[in-house]
Amino acid sequence: MSINAVDPSRDYALQLDKEDELASFRNEFYVKEDAIYLDGNSLGLLSTRAETALLDILDSWKKLGIDGWTEGKHPWFYLSEQLGEMSAPLVGAKSEEVIVTGSTTVNLHQLVSTFFEPKGSRTKILADELTFPSDIYALQSQLKLKGYDPDEHLIQVKSKDGRIVEEEDIIAAMTDDVALIMLPGVMYRSGQVLDMKRLTEEAHKRNIVIGFDLCHSIGAIPHSLSEWGVDFAFWCNYKYLNAGPGGVGGLYVNEKHLGTTPGLSGWFSSDKQKQFDMDHQLTPANNAGAFQIGTPHMLSVAPLIGSLEIFNEAGIDRLREKSLRLTRYLMDLINHELKDFDFKISNPLVDDRRGGHVYLEHKEAARICKALKENNIVPDFRNPNGIRLAPVALYNTFEEVWKSVQILKKIMEEEQYKKFENKRGVVA
Ligand SMILES: *Cc1c(COP(=O)(O)O)cnc(C)c1O
Repeated sequence: MSINAVDPSRDYALQLDKEDELASFRNEFYVKEDAIYLDGNSLGLLSTRAETALLDILDSWKKLGIDGWTEGKHPWFYLSEQLGEMSAPLVGAKSEEVIVTGSTTVNLHQLVSTFFEPKGSRTKILADELTFPSDIYALQSQLKLKGYDPDEHLIQVKSKDGRIVEEEDIIAAMTDDVALIMLPGVMYRSGQVLDMKRLTEEAHKRNIVIGFDLCHSIGAIPHSLSEWGVDFAFWCNYKYLNAGPGGVGGLYVNEKHLGTTPGLSGWFSSDKQKQFDMDHQLTPANNAGAFQIGTPHMLSVAPLIGSLEIFNEAGIDRLREKSLRLTRYLMDLINHELKDFDFKISNPLVDDRRGGHVYLEHKEAARICKALKENNIVPDFRNPNGIRLAPVALYNTFEEVWKSVQILKKIMEEEQYKKFENKRGVVA
């Protein structure tokens, strides 16, 4: 690593910003000039384009009433499919394989209830022990709904160090009794990128269906889901995608599975031409739209129209390249400036295994986060000792990264954190 190579001067940070070809996107976001927001991996910031899109949808409602479904700037009836098409480049899928709908957890339920088909001795679901709790709760309830005891039928691959789950260990757990595998694209805590291509190949060699939770990878890293042959995936749009609190999520179903009857059907699963026939025999849509359930949440989907436009202009490859430079710079500065303060960088250091954030561990993490907030820096605390710092390529600058490390150094030198309790808040 380039531990010694970093130039710790502010001028160097300013120079990096000057050379940044994506710098102008920051002007589209509501960033506070007196604060540094490093939490875009939990809740992305509002852009003016997202705001305008929301106002456009409200305007259709105001002026058109029910006719907003088929008229106005963004007719509501077709919007989920259109946004699916706009999301497809971010996950490397064909337009018909993606739909904007539901939420992460609801989409997980939908896809697992569709693709978990236990047969004979193949009755288990494989996940990992570091996964986000909502995913585990959902998998446990899916097993129970099919009459299986989750204690026996949910296998969670162990991590050797509590941060990284090795692909070898996951592959070794792909035994004959596994029917379905569900894993994150990027780990929410350590930011580890899993090798989705390799895991998909290995799962398919063993006739196991595999899906990924892309919450922390969509908008942060490029994907090639279709090419890799991933069976299904789902994600939320309010993290790197900046679609707003509770914004509607997305899902992908590989083309080879299109036409499968959804596990959880509703009238929005219908072929759109037939939906208003009001027939009691469902004819599912022949695209990923079949995995919708009910009426789309228009006011929560609207901001995504503006956000995806921005992503499509910036391009995920350029964003990834900048993101890697931001996190590399942050790690170099931490190594250079904070070496006396017992921090441990616990995300993978190499580029192709590192997601969009840096994961710092420290025994005083909870109160260091409180001190950062008091200094107008927004980090993200993760129990028990983790500080997630996400410099987001669309709106954070190299200078902000530089300033954050300087402020963190001051907090440590002056022991500012000691005036807080080392305990998390209710939302942390
Ligand atoms: C953010 C996140 C969720 C949140 O799910 P919701 O249904 O949107 O509340 C689930 N899983 C992972 C891995 C996440 O990062």
